[in-house]
Amino acid sequence: MEFKTIRGVEDLIPPESEKFEKVVETFKETVKTAGFKEVILPIFEEAKLFSRSVGETTDIVQKEMYIFEDKGGRTIALRPEGTASAARAYIQHGIYAKEPFTKWFYVGPMFRFERPQAGRKRQFFQAGCEVFGLSNPGADAELIQTAQEILNKLKIDTTLEINSIGCENCRPLYRKALIEYLQKHEEKLCQDCKERFKRNPLRVLDCKTESCQEIVKNAPIITDFLCEECKEHFEKVKNYLTLLNVTFNENLHLVRGLDYYTKTVFEFKSTQLGAQSTVLAGGRYDKLVEELKGPSTPALGFAMGIDRVMLLIPDEEPEREGIFIVTGGEKAYEEGLKLLILLRQKGIKTQIDHRQGSFKSQLKAADREKAKYVVIIGDRELEEGFYSLKELETGKQEKITSVEELIARI
Ligand SMILES: [Zn+2]
Ligand SMILES: [Zn+2]
Repeated sequence: MEFKTIRGVEDLIPPESEKFEKVVETFKETVKTAGFKEVILPIFEEAKLFSRSVGETTDIVQKEMYIFEDKGGRTIALRPEGTASAARAYIQHGIYAKEPFTKWFYVGPMFRFERPQAGRKRQFFQAGCEVFGLSNPGADAELIQTAQEILNKLKIDTTLEINSIGCENCRPLYRKALIEYLQKHEEKLCQDCKERFKRNPLRVLDCKTESCQEIVKNAPIITDFLCEECKEHFEKVKNYLTLLNVTFNENLHLVRGLDYYTKTVFEFKSTQLGAQSTVLAGGRYDKLVEELKGPSTPALGFAMGIDRVMLLIPDEEPEREGIFIVTGGEKAYEEGLKLLILLRQKGIKTQIDHRQGSFKSQLKAADREKAKYVVIIGDRELEEGFYSLKELETGKQEKITSVEELIARI
């Protein structure tokens, strides 16, 4: 074999692609009901957009971004996530001046140079929602409920973890306390954390290394440092979630790996996925629009990992649908071709077997294509002017004398 997909990049061929479509359809249907509208954003952007928003010190920007120089000498990155582009578009098109609040969704591929494993690919797909212009805790709760709704419809069992990571007023105090604490235990931190704890101490909180987790157990917790506003916001989010029947656990060490988050952060985790357990995650990012030189605009959002969700939904036997036309001889085949187009124009999924093999082989093809009915046109049918309609599942066969009757019958 000469050509293959690049490591960490996969083709989605049927039936996997059908599963993909089902996940996307369920997502779209749910978020459209909640008033979200689709944005279609570019796959590559100026690399700086991501270092400015996702954060210079994050793993995503430091290690995982696909960066290249284009022929015009611009430094370009394949997008590692969707929120930065959405915020950029929100500012670029002056949406803030046109709408008091804005609800967008997107679906598409993202790119990160990570070690590939089940549920983690270098080209992966996300479906996400972004809300701009709302600072109210009710918006957080509604968004989380919408996410829960999507996962419910997909029949995926998850647990929801939430936390507040404070704002620009209270987080620095916590950051300082955390650095002081980590400094005392520096020698026991893993290599990564030794390097990052001064720049990005919150990341140590979600380090998966056992020695780091041991240290984190006794670390100061953010809740003790939240300012009045953040405290009240978080309390209200929790109250509204309870009101909306959304069950959650508070995880005081939940921080998310991106710099732009403020206040509420949340993750839906599956118990079935092992290390790659997060299937949907998000939070509030009240400073991002400003950071990207837009007007101060509160915002929040989430992204769902479509690849991971696909690992969790069961394979379904496709339902039988449509018609497969089986013919004997050239004249019957010509009759079949005409019928094929007539039925399709009525919106009925219809196929024919151009190979004109034996009835047996044509019926086999009909079964493999999961047709619900076959229409048989043979010598007798031609002579006496009728179609034989056979239901594949039951084997029941009947005489049909016109196209109108055929359409009415199925
Ligand atoms: Zn605060
Ligand atoms: Zn660590």
